[in-house]
Amino acid sequence: MMSGSLLYSDIAIIPEPTSLKAVAGCFVFNGSTPLVADEASMTAALAFADAVRPALGRQPHISGIVADGVASIVFRLDTALVDCGSEGYCLDVTSQGVEIVSPSQAGLFYGVQTLRQLLPAVFFANKPLAEKEWSIPCVSIFDKPRYQWRGLMLDTGHDFQCLSNIFRFIDLMALHKFNVFHWHISDLGTFPLEIDGYPELQNPAHLGKRLRGNPPRPVKQGFYTQAEARAVVEYAAARYIKVVPEIDVPGHSQPVLLAYPEFDCPTPMYQWQDFERWEYCLANPKAMAFIEEVLQQILAIFPSEYVHIGGDECPATHWEGCPVCQAKVAKLKLDGVEGLRKHFLAHVETFLNSRGRRMIGWDDIFQSGVKKESAVMIWRPDLELAVPAATAGHNLVMAPHSHLYFDYSEARTPLDKVYSYEPHPEGLAEEMSDLVLGAQGQLWSDNHPTTAEIDRLLYPRSCALAEVVWSAKEQRNWESFSRRLQRHGERLAKLGIVW
Ligand SMILES: [Zn+2]
Repeated sequence: MMSGSLLYSDIAIIPEPTSLKAVAGCFVFNGSTPLVADEASMTAALAFADAVRPALGRQPHISGIVADGVASIVFRLDTALVDCGSEGYCLDVTSQGVEIVSPSQAGLFYGVQTLRQLLPAVFFANKPLAEKEWSIPCVSIFDKPRYQWRGLMLDTGHDFQCLSNIFRFIDLMALHKFNVFHWHISDLGTFPLEIDGYPELQNPAHLGKRLRGNPPRPVKQGFYTQAEARAVVEYAAARYIKVVPEIDVPGHSQPVLLAYPEFDCPTPMYQWQDFERWEYCLANPKAMAFIEEVLQQILAIFPSEYVHIGGDECPATHWEGCPVCQAKVAKLKLDGVEGLRKHFLAHVETFLNSRGRRMIGWDDIFQSGVKKESAVMIWRPDLELAVPAATAGHNLVMAPHSHLYFDYSEARTPLDKVYSYEPHPEGLAEEMSDLVLGAQGQLWSDNHPTTAEIDRLLYPRSCALAEVVWSAKEQRNWESFSRRLQRHGERLAKLGIVW
């Protein structure tokens, strides 16, 4: 008697594949089922082995060839499968065997994630199972993503997040076929990345002082060494996830300015909300040298094409009253403090471009006239900047607070609202759709959420977003998603996420 037998109606893959044909019958998987891979597909076989090892209580056998008459799970790289694009795959399950084939390593990895979801939910429990064999329903799947940027952002700048939580965040991203981890490193609470030459950044005396959350909690202490940040990059890369680092400039820089007040304008702070300091003095050579040094060290850690420089929410009033900033405006004949801001962003842009990287920033940077080669992350849908930015030639990543800020309560941003989100901006011509790289969910930590609160803020809303960015638009169906999410919730429950 096999346990965990699945009916077709039980097939519940999130995100929904491009095409899935269920066939009668099932494949019987047990601890002796060999995984078959050659050198080119070994990474995918090992990823599957890693995923099932806890449940099996042993390492599956990996073989180079399919033995006659032995039902196997085959992983095969085939560069001729051009229809799959750079991330797609085919997955076929018959009673005789399972085969995952793709032209790319990423595609094989996504095939593995789908196969995991065809196994019973108990496989996610991270402990040996009493049963000895399980059925996988016979299916024929062809699958590839709609968007190339399928992102989630984690904010370690308003509040520190411990390293193990970052690895867990990445694991959950991989299960849902996300491929961009936007790491919002620094903000008003803390600058938690070690920067050689600037040890005061990690002095807890300079943490943001605000208590947030319910009950009110301070900013958590802690920081990442550069070796730890590299380990995050490596861990994510092994799951086909790029890490896009963000150092938010010229605003949102309170902890840096508390640690090094000489980077601030030498005039009294313009009081904005309850923040003690906010933005760098854009005419201060020491501040500019610091920003360049930080970027230089960031580039050495993070190989991603895009580097996020923030650029958002920075009032210019302090620069208005600063004699140092005003002297620079006069000397360079800039158009006031907005010209100074533009000059600064152009400098950062050139700095990154000359080192082979591309700049991305929040949509405020579009208003400051950056080059069209820089990408724009749209967070303020009400300003309707998306269509003008795309029309000007910018790539867009859609991250609107109206639908994709997962730190907002479920009452404000319910699951069905996330699911209904359409990344292609209204009013943008269809032939310009390639400019939309994709979309991204944001987990801001302004309210100092606990790990359990972060789980509940991210899930299941990230499941809905996964489908928005992966599945074809015409495939999206709320009733189908709701049904599949019930089954998927059993998997996530085994991973400690319950809603
Ligand atoms: Zn100044």
